Amino acid sequence: MLRVGINGFGTIGKRVADAVRAQPDMTVAGVAKRTPDYEAEIARDRGYSLFAAAETTPFTAAGIDVAGQVRQLVAASDVVVDATPAGVGERNRALYEELETPAIYQGGEDASVAPVSFNARANYDEAVGADAVRVVSCNTTGLSRVLAPLEERYGIEKVRATLVRRGGDPSQTGRGPINDTLPDPVSIPSHHAPDVKTVFPELSIDTMGMKVPATLMHTHAINLTLRATPTAEDVRDLLTAEGRLLVIPERLGIDGAGKLKEYTRDAGRPRGDVWENCIWAESLTVEPLSDGRADCYLFQAIHQEADVVPENVDAIRAIAGLADGPESVERTNEALGIGC
Ligand code: NAD
Repeated sequence: MLRVGINGFGTIGKRVADAVRAQPDMTVAGVAKRTPDYEAEIARDRGYSLFAAAETTPFTAAGIDVAGQVRQLVAASDVVVDATPAGVGERNRALYEELETPAIYQGGEDASVAPVSFNARANYDEAVGADAVRVVSCNTTGLSRVLAPLEERYGIEKVRATLVRRGGDPSQTGRGPINDTLPDPVSIPSHHAPDVKTVFPELSIDTMGMKVPATLMHTHAINLTLRATPTAEDVRDLLTAEGRLLVIPERLGIDGAGKLKEYTRDAGRPRGDVWENCIWAESLTVEPLSDGRADCYLFQAIHQEADVVPENVDAIRAIAGLADGPESVERTNEALGIGC
């Protein structure tokens, strides 16, 4: 069993820990946190060995036992997943390198933190045996998953995507906007287009970002020019066959993120997590152009707290050489119940 340490037990880290625990070929060596807050209590209650990212005293003062300091966790791990706040991963890099523990970073880090920016569907093989990998952000993951099959089957000439982003996660009480609709950033392209190009270096893509007073999910409005003229049905069939794309039929009556989250909570998913991209079937539209190309349109919703979680699991397998891409994705999907 591969021993996986998780440094940072917040929104992403706690989900990655639970996902690792659910896999047949890996185990959680422990989790590290900086603060003895409610999430530290959850780590303890779930039976994870808890390590202090800084001083142990605040934990013992709060009555929470710690197994040691983060250095010991990294030393005892075959792979470490860094899920600390954006920018902290870069500061932790020296420790992972000193202890020669391969590391997985998150999308809040600059791409320069690791030699590979990773999406399981698009470039798994590039991460096999790497010393460090960055799992791209929730939005870049969502875009990469839908673009990879379209690029493979039809070729993509140009992508134009508008990302309507939630102002903050449900637990991020200090974020906003509270009552506004912001172009964010106002400049074009937003940082998402260059981030997608860390996965697809040859792709022509422009993105525009917005932020709105919502916490549940992001919504992407995507327009792409294909180098072929499939029908809308062809595109729907292609995307429906992808394990991490949920093409939502009209009959379900799901009109937005609220009902999507309700659907996954009703289905008994942990935390109501939506690991897949959710694409509205009736939004899939193809307009043939005169010269053998076609414009394709779609809306998709992305659960920012969840979609990168299976990607972290696959990045662990890639870095450790435990499986090839399709095998890993299948194993992860089966263990978590993705696509069900
Ligand atoms: P978070 O604030 O919810 O959790 C961070 C955790 O790290 C907390 O448990 C905190 O106590 C701990 N921590 C803080 N400083 C630490 C340190 N020095 N050492 C160890 N632990 C420390 O953050 P998050 O939302 O889980 O984000 C983590 C990373 O994932 C960031 O790079 C972020 O950009 C990325 N990401 C976040 C989302 C999202 O929507 N939340 C989506 C995709 C990617």
